[in-house]
Parts: sequence; structure tokens; C-alpha cells
Amino acid sequence: MFKGEIIAVGTELLLGQIANTNAQYISKKMAEIGVPIFYHHTVGDNSDRLKEVILQAKKRSNLIIFTGGLGPTQDDLTKEAAAETMNRKLILDEVSFNKIKAFFQQRNIFMTDNNKKQAMVIEGSTIFPNLQGLAVGIGLNVDRVHYVFLPGPPREMKPMLDQYVIPWIKKHYSGFTFFSKVMRFTGIGEAALEEQIIDIINKQDNPTIAPLANNGEVTIRLTAKAEDEAKALSLIHPIEKEIHQRLEDYHFANGEDNIEQIVFDTLKERKLTISASESITGGLIGTRFTSISGSSSIYRGGIICYSNDIKHRVLQVPQNVLNTKGAVSFETAKALAENTLQLFQTDIAISVTGIAGPEAVEEKPIGLVYIGLSEVGKQTVVKELHLSGSRDFIQSRAAKIAFYYLWKKLNERCKETNESFF
Ligand code: ATP
Repeated sequence: MFKGEIIAVGTELLLGQIANTNAQYISKKMAEIGVPIFYHHTVGDNSDRLKEVILQAKKRSNLIIFTGGLGPTQDDLTKEAAAETMNRKLILDEVSFNKIKAFFQQRNIFMTDNNKKQAMVIEGSTIFPNLQGLAVGIGLNVDRVHYVFLPGPPREMKPMLDQYVIPWIKKHYSGFTFFSKVMRFTGIGEAALEEQIIDIINKQDNPTIAPLANNGEVTIRLTAKAEDEAKALSLIHPIEKEIHQRLEDYHFANGEDNIEQIVFDTLKERKLTISASESITGGLIGTRFTSISGSSSIYRGGIICYSNDIKHRVLQVPQNVLNTKGAVSFETAKALAENTLQLFQTDIAISVTGIAGPEAVEEKPIGLVYIGLSEVGKQTVVKELHLSGSRDFIQSRAAKIAFYYLWKKLNERCKETNESFF
């Protein structure tokens, strides 16, 4: 079993000039293949401090992944410092060096001596070709610790990791493979979700269960270790089924698609059209629909009815409703949804009205939101939400939840016609 650490090298990372997105990417990829990463380090271009971190890491871990410092300049010293901690020499990899020479010859540029550095590898290394640049990556096993050296630029690092390093790491797993499945949920927070499956999480072994909240959605990654993919899937399946049964109301998909895409695909499949009247969300729902290509056949349009005047004059919300109940009310959301349906002649219309803050309006609390859903031939449904957080957060969460209610509505349709949503 691997225990991993990532060492990102570069003074620019410590100065805050660039974010350490490589560590995030590598960690995510390791999680997908079931390799646990226990530490992230960031070290400047300083040989002594780098060696100190390597010596510490190799005492407790058996997979150390470096990124950065493989370039031609003096401050690129990752391989040199690591080689010293292993008591190994750097040797020239002729194949990589020829590639570098050809690169300069083809461009008719003079190659300086320091470019040779990019073809230097630690004795006993496996070479990982660099498809986008000149510095080669390497992997080697010394005293039962596996070392991987990746370049810093993400456009070089990512293909090298995906195409060469991951298969190399998998090969050193003694014949086991890791297979992951991602279940996606929305309409429920991470803590509430975890509470409903805490007994399953506490008993986890193989597969491992990793929940993660991001942008109004929660994902659960199930990762199984087995001899082959079919066996891994057979270990995942019963756990997945149990989790689905408990969280069916929130489980909208498996894989990579977000709720907006799932709603869009379902509307398209059913040839349904939709429109929106947006007050608090200021067009976020429309933006999310229109960012999906081909949306004009589904999303017919919307109105950003931010002022009461537009709610009344364009969307016909009765003045007495606005005066007595207010713009942020059950009644206004209902009228907005119903009148939007009429105006746009769609199958479904959605309305969102609420208070994003920071000032309270109509003596109502910040975060109060009403979402109306109107459908041809059906009773309009209005949901009341109490959100909290910054203005941006409340707006974007209201839009996300609007998609959640749309999904639930479409799901009900499926149930009515006895079709399975997934
Ligand atoms: P080069 O051959 O380009 O010098 P290198 O392997 O030596 O590559 P660095 O010199 O350390 O890499 O970094 C080059 C660039 O790559 C940085 O300026 C930065 O833009 C990007 N980079 C480096 N490390 C990271 C990281 N951890 N996360 C994101 N980007 C990074």
C-alpha cells in the first residue's frame, strides 16, 4: 500500500505569485486511483531546505511526488538535491538529450550548455517523456521509496502524470487496480448527507468512501481495490445501492455532470421548454442554461425582474400583492412563475425572488428566498428557503437550488410515467 506525499518546488509558490494547482491536480488523481496523500509540502528553490523535507518525507512515506525545478536554470535543483539524499549520481539520458538537440536544431536556435541539465536523470530511473516541453520526468524506487519527478508547468505536468506516471504507479501495486465511482448529490449539505450514511462510512474498508462538498453539490467517491475492474465494481455496487436508497431524493447523477447539465439533458430528452423570471439571481439561471451549447431549443428566455415596477408592469404581479405581501413572498413567486409561463409559452417556468443582503428588505430576513415552479396543467409549487452567507453565496446557492427543484419536478414526471430517471 502506498502512502504518498507531494513536494512542490518553487520560490514563486512561497511568494504567492502562483497557486499550487499542481498539488491539487496530483492529489485528485491519486485519490481517483486510491493512493492516499498524507502531506503537501511547498519548498523554495533552496537545496538544503529541499533535502530536509525529502529526508523527513522518506521516513514515513513510500511515494514522494515532486513537481517543479526540472528546468535548465541554476535554481532548478530538484533532481540534484534528491539524488544527494539517495546517494545516487545524475547521468545523461541520451534519448532525451537528442530530443532536446533536435528541438533547437529545427528552430535554428543555439543550444546553451545548461539545456543538457533537462536530460539528466538519477541513476536507475524510468523516463517519463515530456509531450509538451523539454524537461523529462523520472520515476525510481530506492530503498522501498518510490520517487516521481514532474515538471512545474501544468501543461507539461498533467499529460505526463496521466499518460506515464499513473500507469507506472499502478504497476507497482503488486497486481491490484483501483477503480472509483462518483455519486453526485444536491439539495443537501455535506454534514447532513454524512449523518445519513455515517454507519456505512464508519465501516468502510474496501471500497473507501470519500464525501466532498463543492459549489452547492456533494460528491461521494467510492474507490475499490481489486484484481480487475469487474471485481472492483462488484465491491462498489452494494454500497452504492445502499447509499442511493438512503439519499435517493438528492442523488441526481453519477460521474462528472453537474445538476444544470442533468436538468438540461432531461428537458431535451423530453422535448420540454423552460423560461425563468429572476429577481435575486439576476440572470444566473439563464446564464447556466445558456452556457450549455444548444440550449435555445430548451431555454426560451427569461426576465430579470429586479425592480417591483418590472415585476408589476412586465410580469403582471398585482400591485396589491406587491403592496401587502411584498416582492419577496410566496404570492409574488407564484404570480411570477405563472405569468412567465404564459408570457414565454413554455412547458415549465421558474421564478426566484429573495433577499441577498447585506441590507434587509421589507423587514424580512436576509437569505429568505422563494422559488416558484409553474407547469402547464399543474398546480404551481412555491418553495421557501432560508439561506445564509455573503450576497454572492446566497445568489448562487438560490440558483443552484432552483435547478435542484427543477430536477425534482422532472423526477416526479418520470415517476408518474413510471420511467427511471437514471
Ligand atoms: P521549466 O522547464 O519551465 O523551468 P520546471 O519543471 O523547472 O520547468 P518551474 O521552473 O519550477 O518548473 O516552474 C515553471 C512554471 O510552472 C512556474 O513559473 C509556474 O508558472 C508553473 N508551476 C510550477 N510549479 C507549479 C505548481 N506547483 N502549481 C502550478 N503551477 C506551477
